[in-house]
Amino acid sequence: MPSHTQFVSPLAAAIACRCPRCGKGKLFVNVLNIRDKCDACGLDYKFVDTGDGPAVFAIFILGFLCIGGALIAEFEFGVPWWAHVLLWGILTPLLGVLLLRFLKALLIALQFKNKAEEGRLSKE
Ligand SMILES: [Zn+2]
Repeated sequence: MPSHTQFVSPLAAAIACRCPRCGKGKLFVNVLNIRDKCDACGLDYKFVDTGDGPAVFAIFILGFLCIGGALIAEFEFGVPWWAHVLLWGILTPLLGVLLLRFLKALLIALQFKNKAEEGRLSKE
């Protein structure tokens, strides 16, 4: 069993989408699904419970960026309507997936670092 005395920054783990404990094992099995456990250190990911947190943050951040970008493109550059459809139709889902991966990994790393979990009356 490897030692885990080395500190892994939640931000670094989130950017690389790596294990919050060792920073080496991959966190996702495909685009957004979490693995059962870390390949490198064996950390069980059963504690992961991000809920709707990443989606809410992604909606607010992406909505701000895309609406702001569309308004700037329209009123500063006079982009035609079909270019808006092409630009935002491709860019929005792509940014959404990337942002969701980052935010999900960040919330998992913060949950691990802060030992956040549901409140219990007794330890079992
Ligand atoms: Zn690990």
